[in-house]
Amino acid sequence: MEDKNPFIMAQEQLDQAAALMELDEEAHRILREPQRIIEVNIPVRMDDNKVRLFRGFRVLHNNARGPGKGGIRFHPQENLDTIKALASWMTWKNSLADLPYGGAKGGVICDPKSMSQREIERLSRGYIDSIKDFVGKDIDIPAPDVYTNPQIMAWMMDEYAKIKGYNEFAMITGKPVEIWGSEGRGNSTAMGAMYILREAARLLKIDLRSAKIAIQGFGNAGMFAFELVNRMFGSKVIAVSDSKGGIMNEEGINYNELLKVKERSGSVSDYNGGRKITNEELLESDVDILIPAAIESQVTEANAEKIRAKIILELANGPVTVGADRILSEKGIMDLPDFLVNSGGVIGSYFEWVQNIQGYYWETDDFYSKLDKIVTRSFNSVVRMKKEYEDKGRRITYRNAAYIIAVDRVAKAMKARGWY
Ligand code: NAD
Repeated sequence: MEDKNPFIMAQEQLDQAAALMELDEEAHRILREPQRIIEVNIPVRMDDNKVRLFRGFRVLHNNARGPGKGGIRFHPQENLDTIKALASWMTWKNSLADLPYGGAKGGVICDPKSMSQREIERLSRGYIDSIKDFVGKDIDIPAPDVYTNPQIMAWMMDEYAKIKGYNEFAMITGKPVEIWGSEGRGNSTAMGAMYILREAARLLKIDLRSAKIAIQGFGNAGMFAFELVNRMFGSKVIAVSDSKGGIMNEEGINYNELLKVKERSGSVSDYNGGRKITNEELLESDVDILIPAAIESQVTEANAEKIRAKIILELANGPVTVGADRILSEKGIMDLPDFLVNSGGVIGSYFEWVQNIQGYYWETDDFYSKLDKIVTRSFNSVVRMKKEYEDKGRRITYRNAAYIIAVDRVAKAMKARGWY
């Protein structure tokens, strides 16, 4: 199951949930496939004055509960199956958070690292021109994702405004604050994960003030998570890594020192206040909490048995494989699924959309307290669902429980609308 086509993987995860919850067969059939797939070829005049054609996609997996919502990726290895899988995962993420959205995702096959800013701007505008009839505040609302950013969202919003003849800020989220992006959105993913960690630790009676934490990945997600566990809970991060390797110090790693090292040398592994470790050692280290915040498929059938953390907080997407899930569950490790843990990102996007529609902007404190309420509610509903099954003598994972809640809500919406 480890190196599968992601869309087949997404379908199998749905199948697993469908079997556990005895999902209606017609609903299951509808949910296995995306509702709409758009494939476009975008001509872009490059800086050398030649026209290049870029292939782009936008997939709407399901809109029974509201307009599609999901990011846009600019990536050289982009492909339709990945986007189809990601679109369906967005349906489940949005449903679990109980947002009034369906799921969608888009992407363009390109290598933004080898393109100038002007070329990226022309591509971004061209992409929106090509899919203009299929995006909009009530249709499908994109956001930044791999290799796209607030500036790209701004160009896309501007292009859409030119097509429509008026500003529709709510057609896209993750915009710069100058054009009504939302203040707290930048770190809402890591912040949401912190509220979940607080609840999980409370449930397992782990005192976060004395907890030991390992973080894999020191990019956007991992860096914020490091800073926040220190600041919010006073926990010690004793191990951290990036693609070049990691470091460990039982007494705790100093965040500011580490940041300086990372800025100077490009890698956390050059921090000299600790001993060097590999990424494998980091994953298997003796900590209370493991936060994978790098890439997919890190905890697998090969190393799951050796994981010692009590909680795995999946900040990255897909860091734990399906095969590993079962082993972790048998070991009694609380493995909290990605689409619960990193849902703060899309919840932040939702807040931006709501504010754009209302034209009324909240204080940052409001933003965080509303985020806290939503993720805490999601966490509690997952814990409750798991217990419900266990009370009936059926052992399920936290991931299963989250899937069951998410799929059930979408199925009920489809039923109410008469889709099956
Ligand atoms: P990033 O590119 O900023 O950082 C990734 C980090 O992982 C880097 O430190 C990199 O060196 C490290 N890394 C790469 N390969 C590695 C390997 N083989 N072993 C160990 N470390 C490795 O990315 P990010 O935005 O921080 O995202 C990380 C994960 O979190 C991804 O799965 C992403 O989908 C997920 N995520 C991020 C956000 C967000 O708001 N940034 C939101 C939702 C989900």
